[in-house]
Amino acid sequence: MSDYESKIQRLIGRWEGKKAEEAEVIEQHKRKAERDGLRQTQTHTNPNASVETFRENLDTPVVDKCDVLIVGGGPAGISAALAAARTSTKESPIDVLILERFGCFGGVITTVGMETLGWYRYEGCTVDSEGIGKELERVSKRMGGSDRKWAFNDSECLDTENFKFIADTLLTESGCRTLLHTAFVDAIMDPEDPNKLIGVAVENKSGRGIIKASRVVDCSGDADVAARAGSRFTKLNRKDAMGLTTVFNVVGVKKDDFLKHIEEKPATYTDWSKTWQQDTTGKEDDLKSPYMQDEFEELNSSKKEKKEPISFGGSWSALTEKGEATNLNLVHLKGFDPLNAQDLTKAEIMGRKGVMEAVAALKKTVPGFDDIKLRNVAMTMGIRDSRKIIGKYNLTGRDVASQAKFEDTIGVFPEFIDGYNILILPTTGRFFEIPLRCLQPDTDNLFVAGRCCAGDMVSHAAMRNMMACTVTGQGAGVAAAISFRNKELGSKVNIKDVQAELVRQEVNIHGYVGAGAEWASGMASGIKSKI
Ligand SMILES: Cc1cc2nc3c(=O)[nH]c(=O)nc-3n(C[C@H](O)[C@H](O)[C@H](O)COP(=O)(O)OP(=O)(O)OC[C@H]3O[C@@H](n4cnc5c(N)ncnc54)[C@H](O)[C@@H]3O)c2cc1C
Repeated sequence: MSDYESKIQRLIGRWEGKKAEEAEVIEQHKRKAERDGLRQTQTHTNPNASVETFRENLDTPVVDKCDVLIVGGGPAGISAALAAARTSTKESPIDVLILERFGCFGGVITTVGMETLGWYRYEGCTVDSEGIGKELERVSKRMGGSDRKWAFNDSECLDTENFKFIADTLLTESGCRTLLHTAFVDAIMDPEDPNKLIGVAVENKSGRGIIKASRVVDCSGDADVAARAGSRFTKLNRKDAMGLTTVFNVVGVKKDDFLKHIEEKPATYTDWSKTWQQDTTGKEDDLKSPYMQDEFEELNSSKKEKKEPISFGGSWSALTEKGEATNLNLVHLKGFDPLNAQDLTKAEIMGRKGVMEAVAALKKTVPGFDDIKLRNVAMTMGIRDSRKIIGKYNLTGRDVASQAKFEDTIGVFPEFIDGYNILILPTTGRFFEIPLRCLQPDTDNLFVAGRCCAGDMVSHAAMRNMMACTVTGQGAGVAAAISFRNKELGSKVNIKDVQAELVRQEVNIHGYVGAGAEWASGMASGIKSKI
């Protein structure tokens, strides 16, 4: 083992121990409570499962049916839907439907305003999965939805408003069907086999209805479908879970003044450790980072004094020529449970107040920001951490940091760990493979992709990143579609067929730089001609 490898193994070892054990106990307990709750309120299906009697004893109509249903339209959901739709052929059509509770697709990109699918691309980061994630960046660029880079490195910044339209375009042109303003509320299990999912219950302005689905991909971020279906999951307590953030944008920045200030007072990743404990491998420390902290000193100490669970400081992303500073990731809340509606309400209200305070502080302390105006507050709180399923395989931090290889790989992700006190930037070209098994929960015919896929804390700090979510989304979408086509249970899907289809979709499943990298000019053949 090289010095570098032993260093990162030691680093991970320091953080994966006790906390994870405590977390496990809480998670098991929660799971039991959730399952008991589920038992009391569990839906009852009639024998042919066409109509379901709910706890209110109302007959619920079947409003739709499809072959592959994607729940949630974030980076994972969009990728899953596109991948499943692209698996469909004339000879063997697959009907794909994606539903989303809000009025737009994009998840954290559009509803929180996070513009970097891969902010980790410092020099030396050489391998990506190349699949739909990269395509989203390329299409955005082509459609005028990405004209900036993350400050100090080569990562594309998406225009998050524009991305709403880009996601609509990609999804509708792929042939998959779309349903917005529709929340998943319950899982419908096979009356013959309570472990097998056969559809979902949804609620929207039209009422409550059932969507029958042969395969479901849970891309809700919170593993809502898996939890409702009774699959096991883990979840950290309020204290240990990553914090929530209210993101905002401002206009009126005098760019030159601000850049001069940044030049005079440059920040690096060492600065991140001023307010929270952060371990790096050392090579990250001197890299430039778009980070602000000292600017909020007064505000932070007043909050600390009042013991308010809010703190200020973090990254800005890119500045436009029009004086916009977008993706301001500066207002953080700790100790709230994102699966508790009352906590979410308190956090939203405290976060928005925090944004007003942050704007006032920026005006006062940051050169070039003296005349800014608040342009927008994210339409919803940014959530990093809630349920993670217990999968057929649970990815570990050591897998991420040991260039792990798996027979059932569905794609790769660079060695990038960001969270739970660890920051490793992928400047060495190292990467790991992602196994399909970490998308397979206890429930059959269900796949889970995105930030809620199976793994420990440290691996979550890698897999939660949007580019990784697109890898699991694409893998899950293809696996769902192939298992439907092959008439195999989701749990028994033929991995070779899944991998063959992923390769056909130009995914770099083993990380070699092959056809995928040459794909730069293009996008998936189905949409290439239309944009
Ligand atoms: C403040 C913040 C900053 C971040 N910064 C970065 C960054 O710079 N780069 C990066 O790569 N990652 C970043 N992340 C992490 C990353 O954005 C998320 O982990 C990632 O978006 C998760 O993708 P996902 O598709 O799994 O879930 P999400 O993006 O959360 O999408 C889930 C979708 O499912 C929908 N949904 C949820 N429940 C239901 C339901 N019951 N019914 C119907 N629809 C439902 C949601 O509305 C949402 O659209 C950040 C996260 C936060 C919160």
